[in-house]
Amino acid sequence: MLQKILFKDKEAKNHLENDEYADAAKVLLRHQRLDWKMLADGYEFLSSQKIKEFEFDGFTIKLQFNPGRIHSTSAQVDEKSINNRKCFLCNENRPPEQKAIQYKKDYLIICNPFPILPEHFTIPHISHLPQKIKNSFPMMLSLSKDLSKYYNVFYNGPACGASAPDHMHFQSGTAGFFPIENELSFLKNEFGATLLDDIGLAVTAVDDGLRKFILIEGKKGRDVQYAFDTFYKVYKMISKEDEEPMMNIVSTFKEKKGWKVILFLRSKHRPSCYYKDGRDKILHSPASTDLSGICVIPREEDFEKITKEDIVKIFQEVSLGKEQFEFMKSGLERRFE
Ligand SMILES: [Zn+2]
Repeated sequence: MLQKILFKDKEAKNHLENDEYADAAKVLLRHQRLDWKMLADGYEFLSSQKIKEFEFDGFTIKLQFNPGRIHSTSAQVDEKSINNRKCFLCNENRPPEQKAIQYKKDYLIICNPFPILPEHFTIPHISHLPQKIKNSFPMMLSLSKDLSKYYNVFYNGPACGASAPDHMHFQSGTAGFFPIENELSFLKNEFGATLLDDIGLAVTAVDDGLRKFILIEGKKGRDVQYAFDTFYKVYKMISKEDEEPMMNIVSTFKEKKGWKVILFLRSKHRPSCYYKDGRDKILHSPASTDLSGICVIPREEDFEKITKEDIVKIFQEVSLGKEQFEFMKSGLERRFE
């Protein structure tokens, strides 16, 4: 089965033999844009999209009108709906044109036919296993390093943005495309509280008025892993017992500086305007891309009417509450002492 879907290409094979996954993925995308009409259409569509920008206190939030994302934005992710549909990340249900690059033993890199970023990949687990970050975080770090030549890596929690919460997957796309990637040092200096500042490892809590996130910056994988495990333990204390604490994650890697991992903390999946009727309705379901500064708006009417104030309201509503954020900060600070 796997052999049938793997991308067979000499150039990609050469890259893979040298562990040049970013180059191999680039080759895959180039070929798929020629061989797979649905994907070509998706990119064609993306290039003609309207963009709107809102300037905040030293940072930017962009809005991307993207009707191709309507299914993802309005995906029913409750257990019943999920059980009643064919999983679109399972090998047997994907379109035959969609080819894959194998990443290590358990993951596949495939092209996302509904792109948000100029180059956009989905990285599903080979097996149909639930979306969970706890034991998959080392894989995220490894992917993020191996794809860093051109790409970042991001993750949406099963209850806050993943449209396939039943099938473990990451996403990856053009590094530097998310405004937040270039604003991190500003946000950290302006709105950050240092929780740990050690040689080669720093942890900062940031509340910029819209978003609340924990930033881990580390040169060594095991240090970043330690910071993440500590974070997870504290965050689990204030989340529902049988659920993963709600988070969206963006990870980038640079050879000299190491990893930068942004952990967006969430209080709910969708804002109240999502469920409203008529003029009050805004179909916006924030996940990693949105919180990183690229808000995907699939309906044109929403794209036209949405204001800066709406964005503030939506972001504040889906982000972790003030009191819980304070709990996170003091809990982490204590553990890092
Ligand atoms: Zn599946």
